[in-house]
Amino acid sequence: MIAQVILDIAHEQINTVYDYFIKPVDIQHIKKGMRVMVPFGTSDTLRMAFVYNIIETSDSAKKYVEEVIDIKPIVDDEFFILFDALTQDPNVLISDVMQTLLPKIFWMSYQHVVQASDLSQIPDEFVHKFNKRLEWVIKDKDKSHLYKLKKLEQQGIVTIKRHVSKRNIQTYETWIELKEPEIRKNDSQLKIIQHLLTYGNTSKKELLAQYSKSSIQWLIDHEAIKEFLVEKRIDHHKFNRNQQIKTGSNISLDNQPIDLSKHQIYALKGYRNESIELRNQIFNQVLSQGKKIFIMVPERFMIETTKDALIKNFPNELWIELPSELSDKELYLRYNQIEESQEKIIIGNKKALFTQMHHLGLIYIVDANDSTHQTFEGLYYDAVELAKLKGRHLNIPICLEADTYSVSVYQDILNGNVVDLSEDLIDDEKHITIVDMKKELMEGHTKMISRYLEEEIKISLLNHQKVLLILNHKSYAPFVMCRTCSYVPKDPETGIALNYSEKNHMLYSHMTKHQEPFQKTCPVCGKPTIKSVGSGLEQLEKYIKELFPLESILRVDQDSLSNRKLYQYIMNDSKERIVIGTQMALKTSWVNTFNLVGILMADQWLKVPRYQAYEDSYLMLKKSKQLALNHLVIQTYDPLHFVIKDLNKEVDFYQEELSNRKISKLPPFRNLLQIKLLGMSYLKTYQHAFVIKEKLTEMGLQVLGPAQSVKLKENQHYQVLLTVKYQHLEPRMYSLLKSNEQIKIKIVPDIIWY
Ligand SMILES: [Zn+2]
Repeated sequence: MIAQVILDIAHEQINTVYDYFIKPVDIQHIKKGMRVMVPFGTSDTLRMAFVYNIIETSDSAKKYVEEVIDIKPIVDDEFFILFDALTQDPNVLISDVMQTLLPKIFWMSYQHVVQASDLSQIPDEFVHKFNKRLEWVIKDKDKSHLYKLKKLEQQGIVTIKRHVSKRNIQTYETWIELKEPEIRKNDSQLKIIQHLLTYGNTSKKELLAQYSKSSIQWLIDHEAIKEFLVEKRIDHHKFNRNQQIKTGSNISLDNQPIDLSKHQIYALKGYRNESIELRNQIFNQVLSQGKKIFIMVPERFMIETTKDALIKNFPNELWIELPSELSDKELYLRYNQIEESQEKIIIGNKKALFTQMHHLGLIYIVDANDSTHQTFEGLYYDAVELAKLKGRHLNIPICLEADTYSVSVYQDILNGNVVDLSEDLIDDEKHITIVDMKKELMEGHTKMISRYLEEEIKISLLNHQKVLLILNHKSYAPFVMCRTCSYVPKDPETGIALNYSEKNHMLYSHMTKHQEPFQKTCPVCGKPTIKSVGSGLEQLEKYIKELFPLESILRVDQDSLSNRKLYQYIMNDSKERIVIGTQMALKTSWVNTFNLVGILMADQWLKVPRYQAYEDSYLMLKKSKQLALNHLVIQTYDPLHFVIKDLNKEVDFYQEELSNRKISKLPPFRNLLQIKLLGMSYLKTYQHAFVIKEKLTEMGLQVLGPAQSVKLKENQHYQVLLTVKYQHLEPRMYSLLKSNEQIKIKIVPDIIWY
């Protein structure tokens, strides 16, 4: 029998699975997911490793697993399913995947325990180190003796075992309990006694913050109060278990909206009164079976807002949040807490998905369309896709909540792959005004805010109501548009808007090789009004200040506002009545806040050079509509565009967009894979891309490119892109996509590079 192991993650350059023979004595109990010690390198240094697989035979195994550390696996099958999904890409470092999946602390903490059988054989210098059970737990200061001890082990005098240490992991806090309230000398001591009488046992830290150290110490010395240790728990929420909050409505358990007995994906439309009730019914259904719920939110600050929104309805359920910023130690504590605790609802963002949660009955994904569920830095993954994988493995339902369904969810509902729980929901009609910016321009008005919108803002402010104004995210690649007729130059092959490079005045495609020179004169209307489209949030802020000098303005974009501040704004009634922002400001925790929402340039969404541009625009306009209590104003150069026209007619929008996607062979009708090649030599990188394209084409795949990236170079490496459209991928394809010494290759199952 052979154990395939992954070595200690501290050594990142090692990215291979190694094979080791298993000693006959270990065969019975060694399992996948256990930690072992293996000899490594020419000097056979013992290293900790993780058993990834157990197989019958191997040609490469030469040495034996020295020792099995764990009694039971530290992970289960779910871990390996996620592991396989994340390591499908041949260029992903296994160490990165391990770091994502398992807190580092699992690797770090073990200690040596020396076991003697007869102390008379032990050298005098060591005898006093052994305890009554003839064990010596090696501390850091003892490590210098390890070499001698290994000699003793070889002579059969001692055995050395490695135990996974709990010493470094558990953290204790000192708490104080009251023993004899009558013992006291002065007023300040009386106050401490009274505190303990009122609040019960209190942590020493808390007492020290309010009372003098000497008074506390006096009481301890005279046994009026007593110290005791408790295991430290990380309860950010400070939720009082005894506190009873009245439940608004008693939800009948007769209502069973979903089938808990099998894996099925459900979709429901969030942020409406009907859907909140539906969600509560689903949660009650899961909780009544004694199962846990994992709620995955896209943004860190939404953990708090989601918890606050739910706690009214689930006052007796306990909450754990799993923010991704937790240190390894904290994460470890969380692991234990979730496993042992009674807490039933767990809220976290994508990283929490990798925590193994026992008795999980449902994964509920908030804002399932939000791209923040994907990671774009470091190891790429889409947490929504991994959640589906997890749900299938655990055989539990998944709920995708979004205020408007994505095109692919809609298609899945049509195909019967997803069950629509909001089928009967009818949205309330809202007042929408579309302002034609071409007309504004023709009438000589060239400001960012149309006269109509300016008037509406004034009315809202006069009525002491709040206003939200949205401009697009600035990270998209720039493109150009005719301000007179809204014409946008497009790639003839893909129909996607061309990128604009200001430096050399060229227009080019990020998917194909097409490029053309930029011209100011419009080929459609003949006017010299083609200009590039950027963001200009700073410009807007300046302009609003001129228009409304007495108003203070809150700016919401990735740079200007921390999650914490945003959360505070949402929760408190703050003084700013005008909020301007990118689409980050559309995160839907903001309900019942804004009377008026203004979209300054819908074209910034509609015409970005992305195949999802229409869908993204539609989802964002729908969100804006949802956020506007009273009135949504959309400024656009293209008022007849179907995305804007169909804002109140969802079915029409989906049908038109789906037929576009079908014609262009894009998702959900084809899957996409984007390949980025990075190399020092432009020619070699380009040629390598071309070779890959040829081989993939031979395999029957449709490949676009090679095309150069918007950013020609990254860290002195040229970037060349390929885009693959496919229905089924053969795993052997991945072998073509392995990096070599000259060309580094990255792949993602979506289009994220431009
Ligand atoms: Zn034009």
